[in-house]
Amino acid sequence: MDTSKKNNVYSRTDSSKVNISDEEWRKILPADVYAIAREKGTERPWTSKFEDSKEVGTYYCAACGNPLFKSDTKFESGCGWPSFYQPISKSSIIYLADNSHGMTRTEVECGRCKAHLGHVFDDGPPPTGLRYCINGVVLDFEKAKAAEKKYNEGEQSKEAKKGE
Ligand SMILES: [Zn+2]
Repeated sequence: MDTSKKNNVYSRTDSSKVNISDEEWRKILPADVYAIAREKGTERPWTSKFEDSKEVGTYYCAACGNPLFKSDTKFESGCGWPSFYQPISKSSIIYLADNSHGMTRTEVECGRCKAHLGHVFDDGPPPTGLRYCINGVVLDFEKAKAAEKKYNEGEQSKEAKKGE
């Protein structure tokens, strides 16, 4: 990430809407994030480090810090982009009709800053049946707290012992 740019709208706790011009976004976002978030670009499939990540934690909007998805709603879709079946809350995401490229799709944007995230399709797993197909470039991931991680490790070693 380009650390020479200071993003003063980024916050994981402030839920107030961010409404600034593309010009201002260009100043504070790394070029790859800008290209997807503000110009509705799409990263090449299979290029995101999050695509097959199974780490426990929370995914935030890389442009503004809005919490978007929990790792436990992430699933392996095989589509080449990080996929989730449910956002953290109703207000996490905005839905828009997208008829570009001769297709009828539903675009998803960040509920706080309207960054383009990806699309949602209705071929996902239960309980929602939805597949949020998200560009990894516009996601920021933070691992769950150490205590939670330790708990999970404990559960895993219990499982391992059972198998002995
Ligand atoms: Zn955002």
